[in-house]
Amino acid sequence: MIIGVLVQLSNKNIDKVFDYSVPSELQDMIKIGIRVEVPFGKQVLEGFVLEIKDSSDLDVKDILSVKDEEVILNDELLELGKRIQSDTLATLISCYQVMLPKALKAKQGNVINKKFDTFYYLGDVNISDLKLNDSQQRIVDLVLEKGKVLRKEIVDISLSSVNTLEKKGILVSEKTEHYRLSYSDEKVEKFPLTNDQENVVNEVILDKHDVYLLHGVTGSGKTEVYMELIEKVIDEGKTSIVLVPEISLTPQMVKRFQNRFGDKIAALHSALNDGEKYDEWRRIVRGEASIVIGARSAIFAPLKNIGLIIIDEEHSDSYKQTDTNPRYSAKDIAIIRGEHYNCPVIMGSATPSLEVMARAQKGVYKYLSLPNRVNGKSLPSVEIIDMNQSMGRMRGHFSETMIKSIEEILEKDEQIILFLNRRGYSSFVTCKNCGHTFKCPHCDITLTYHKSSNTMRCHYCGYGTKVYEVCPECNEKSLNNLGVGTQKVEEELNNLFPNARVLRMDFDTTSRKGMHEEMINSFKNHEYDILLGTQIVTKGLDFSNVTLVGVINADTSLNIPDFRSSENTFSLLSQVAGRSGRSSKTGKVVIQTYNPDHYAISFAKNHDYVGFYNKEMEIRRILKYPPFYYLCFIRISGKDPNYIFGEANKIKRSLDRNLLHTSILGPSTCSVFKVNNIYRYGIILKYKKEDNLKVILEKILDHYKSNSNIKIDIDFNPSQIG
Ligand code: ADP
Ligand code: ZN
Repeated sequence: MIIGVLVQLSNKNIDKVFDYSVPSELQDMIKIGIRVEVPFGKQVLEGFVLEIKDSSDLDVKDILSVKDEEVILNDELLELGKRIQSDTLATLISCYQVMLPKALKAKQGNVINKKFDTFYYLGDVNISDLKLNDSQQRIVDLVLEKGKVLRKEIVDISLSSVNTLEKKGILVSEKTEHYRLSYSDEKVEKFPLTNDQENVVNEVILDKHDVYLLHGVTGSGKTEVYMELIEKVIDEGKTSIVLVPEISLTPQMVKRFQNRFGDKIAALHSALNDGEKYDEWRRIVRGEASIVIGARSAIFAPLKNIGLIIIDEEHSDSYKQTDTNPRYSAKDIAIIRGEHYNCPVIMGSATPSLEVMARAQKGVYKYLSLPNRVNGKSLPSVEIIDMNQSMGRMRGHFSETMIKSIEEILEKDEQIILFLNRRGYSSFVTCKNCGHTFKCPHCDITLTYHKSSNTMRCHYCGYGTKVYEVCPECNEKSLNNLGVGTQKVEEELNNLFPNARVLRMDFDTTSRKGMHEEMINSFKNHEYDILLGTQIVTKGLDFSNVTLVGVINADTSLNIPDFRSSENTFSLLSQVAGRSGRSSKTGKVVIQTYNPDHYAISFAKNHDYVGFYNKEMEIRRILKYPPFYYLCFIRISGKDPNYIFGEANKIKRSLDRNLLHTSILGPSTCSVFKVNNIYRYGIILKYKKEDNLKVILEKILDHYKSNSNIKIDIDFNPSQIG
């Protein structure tokens, strides 16, 4: 028996299938889609079995061992991997690895094992005949009483007695796998759907592949619609995937699904450790879970018989993998899998991405709408504070209006969410005298001040240093740390409202496992009056007592040099505004900005998605951006900037010669030019239709594949450029 093995080495050079022979004693265990260990040069590597055949033309070596009993990559996933490879031009091995939990990827260091529970029950013996000592008798009594007893419980009585009883055949043991997570099976009554919800549910045709956009304002009951559809799918014996943007959304969302579906769900989110993820993954493989909820990579959940795929908050850029290969979009994968299983894919959002909305308008996707909030209330009123006018009358970061609004809510004993927009923003240290700022020695980026450790850190490479006493440029002693950190705003809040209980939620305070969920619960229980946070507070949260949302700085996301910055700002403000007034109480939103006239802000104020969409589409059309044109971003990087720039220009010339229907921009330096001593140039391609594109790009990748001085990354439909 000969097998074709794709080895797990992520080197473009050797991304291909090698033949190996299988010793006769291992042949019974060989299946397509399992892992085996093979000799490879002087190394021992793991690889996936992709082919089984009778003979090979080559002189082949024996495999060393078989790693799996169960198939890890079934036929559907094997095909999917090939499709992702041809769509993204990544290596095939990276396309398979991205589908698997870390525990199943080779060379990850720590080995993650399955955990087992051992149970004992009574052997085939006549109890009255037994002569037992005291502790043996106690054990037998316990087993008699319970039928089946966990090993832990009886070794507590006496380990040696257990062993003796087992040796005599009086006790028999059985091992079952112990999953690290457990779900309660307690279910909660569901709401009767509103008419709008009912209509949407009825418009979705199960057993047929279509893509739907569910456009529903915040609080319109989209999640309830998802759950209703999933229930129908489950009733037909099929499975579902629900994607949510990131961990920040999952605790409340998972809880709602858990209340409704109990242990049918498997949750794959980033707060799980590798062992927990591995366990969840195996529950899915074995068909023990039929609903998978998770972030981007959960789209690869090894479910069979998928009946529905849901992508909540479809506009979120977290669905695109940008930092490593394969640079895939979970939305594309959802559609490929949806076609395979002939099932619907539903993308939901209050602020659909322009791409998805444009397809819905053309009728490529079906449009579903929930225009009203479930509670029948209108969306909260939004007040815009022009910070240019408030200058001089600010107290720290708070305008008079913001302070007054907060006071009013505190008096009514209602709750407040304050949002500090930190995207693309950092608190950095500068010299008051000469303006010197501190940059990372390895990266082209300013260092961020961390108060708790009094250090400055690079968020790109992890470099850290003590805060300097004097400015290295001019020897001035008064260094000033600028920028808004959540800690700073928290201090200001404590001074302004000494009686208010403030809960700060950001990356620092939620890094400990379970912390995020704890914080959400304590805020929900009104142990705090004000929730202050970064992006983490914008989405998904549903607190009935929150009647004021304050945005401290609406501008930071507007200032990012990216063609999506208006779209992102509009969507961010709409999402955060949607946290206010979600129950019977009327909500309010106050937004502080230096750009009160910017259309992203004024359309958000009026909750006017369609107005924003029309305006932004016009701009995209003129500037030749998506959804009118496709983008492809090519990043060329290496240690020697001159060499890299030279090669980038060669690539550009070759593209110019070969691509006749594409605009080619660059090469220019990436928005962060240097990261970890690697210099980066970018080339941007804009095209509507360019049949040659993949072939040409593959040639370029191929040309450089053995050159270790240069790295080329290709990102189709990038979520951001630079
Ligand atoms: P969205 O996902 O669109 O923001 P949710 O599904 O979170 O909206 O619903 C908003 C709120 O309304 C939630 O608190 C939810 O429990 C409640 N809700 C949803 N549907 C119903 C219904 N049919 N009857 C009563 N309450 C509902
Ligand atoms: Zn750095």
